[in-house]
This record gives sequence, C-alpha cells and structure tokens, in this order.
Amino acid sequence: MQFNIPQDHPRAESLRVREMLVEGLRGGLVVEEGLIAHGRGETFDYLLGEKTTLSAIMAIKATAAMLLTSSHPIISVNGNFAALCGKEIIELSRACGALIEVNLFYHSVNRERAIKCYLERLGATDVLGTGKDRTATIPYLNGERKHVDPRGIAIADTVFVPLEDGDRTEALKKMGKKVIAVDLNPLSRTSVHATICIVDNVVRVIPILIQMLLELKSENRESLMNMIGKFDNIMNLNESARLIRRGGSEISATI
Ligand code: ATP
Ligand code: MG
Repeated sequence: MQFNIPQDHPRAESLRVREMLVEGLRGGLVVEEGLIAHGRGETFDYLLGEKTTLSAIMAIKATAAMLLTSSHPIISVNGNFAALCGKEIIELSRACGALIEVNLFYHSVNRERAIKCYLERLGATDVLGTGKDRTATIPYLNGERKHVDPRGIAIADTVFVPLEDGDRTEALKKMGKKVIAVDLNPLSRTSVHATICIVDNVVRVIPILIQMLLELKSENRESLMNMIGKFDNIMNLNESARLIRRGGSEISATI
C-alpha cells in the first residue's frame, strides 16, 4: 500500500478499501471504470451507516442455504471482487464447494490472466473462464461476458455474482439459473432481478457468509430449503431501501 492511512482517521476503513482498489488498478486487476462503480457503492454504504444490517444478515443466511443445497454452484469473479476479497474468494469456494470463474465486462486477455494468476498465488487451484476455456455462450447477452467456461457458469445451477451488472443477472435468470448478487444499491436492476441480493459491502459480506456456511453445513436439506423458502428478495430490498431513506434524512447533531 503506497498511501499510509492514519489509524485514527474516522474513515480509515473506507480509505483502506479504496487503496485496495487502487492497488488492484496498478496490478492490472481493476479498470478505471471499476473505481467509479465502487464510488456508486460507497454512496449507498454511507447512507446505510457502513454496517451490515439485519436484512443483509437474512439475505446472507438464505445465500448460505442456497449454496449448500446447489449441485453446481459457481463464484463469478470480476476485477473489483478479486481486488477486494482475493483470499476470501478461495475460502468461500472451499466452504461451499463452488468453483471459481473469471467473467469481465471490460474484458481483456491480460486482465483475465492477471486475475487468474492473482487468485492462484493466493491458493486457488482451478480458475475457470480464461483464455481458450471460454467456449460456451450465455444467450440473451451481448459483449464479452457472454463467453463462459463450459465447466463453470454454463452448467451451474447457482451463480454467485457480487458487483454484477443488471443485464447479465437477467440473462442468467432467463437460463433458469439461481442468481445471488451483492449490491449496495437496492434499486439496481441486478438487485431486483437476482434470486437473492445481499445489500451490503462485499468486503463485509464474504467473511460473514463463510462463517454462516460453516454454521449451516450440518443442517439437513429440508431445513436449508425452508430458510430459502422464507426469504423474499423484494421485501428484503424494500427494507434496505427504507434504511437508506432514513440514513439520508436524519442528520445527527453530534457529527
Ligand atoms: P445495474 O446494471 O444492476 O442496474 P448499475 O449499472 O447501476 O446497476 P453497475 O455499474 O453495473 O451498476 O455496477 C456497480 C454496482 O455495484 C452498483 O450498484 C454499486 O452500488 C455496487 N457496488 C460497488 N461497489 C460495491 C461494494 N464494494 N459492495 C457492494 N456493492 C458494490
Ligand atoms: Mg449496470
């Protein structure tokens, strides 16, 4: 990290996360547009008080249950996700038996290679979706993201896609897949179209999700299916939107 963040800075954590992305940019994992997308996320995070809400916990629990009951779950990784959660992506993959696939909106061969190498350096053994492996196609989608790995997203029943774009979420849903998104904006097309959307910062979500997976691993299938059945994505998004509205309207005199 090039910039030394003062530990007692009131926004130290937020600055630390920004630095991870800037480092990711310098290392060829992240594109400039990714920094802007993160800025949009930061705005919603600010309004949510930069903490994991109860509705996010409910969504994380349903996510853990869905990943544990899926026969072929996959974790779709883009540049921001790799830069923010590199080590945790591998832990998550081990905790739920999901494969890892790189999928990029701003695609380049160099960037997909950089992300694959980065994850392998952190311990990933089989990173799908790069080079000559992208021979399958997602219908209903244009651009580079439609090229996927026939061993991964193409045959997955559940796709975990943090920081996703709305049109790919829709395309994956049209293919009959369950889509789990992490998006701080409850109004986005991604959030609304996902089977489950976790409205929280991905850097806070993944460690909680890993913990939740370990806790729920011993539950039987029926009880996990029950947890999924009880979750209503739109109701959950509305609760997050309500918290954001409240965060934007109550200014504390103590700040
Ligand atoms: P959509 O295509 O779903 O309508 P969008 O076009 O507004 O959404 P994109 O640019 O496709 O947004 O993706 C960025 C999304 O990722 C934003 O909604 C932003 O809130 C969210 N985001 C950015 N950084 C984070 C983060 N660290 N954690 C969670 N969500 C984030
Ligand atoms: Mg979009």
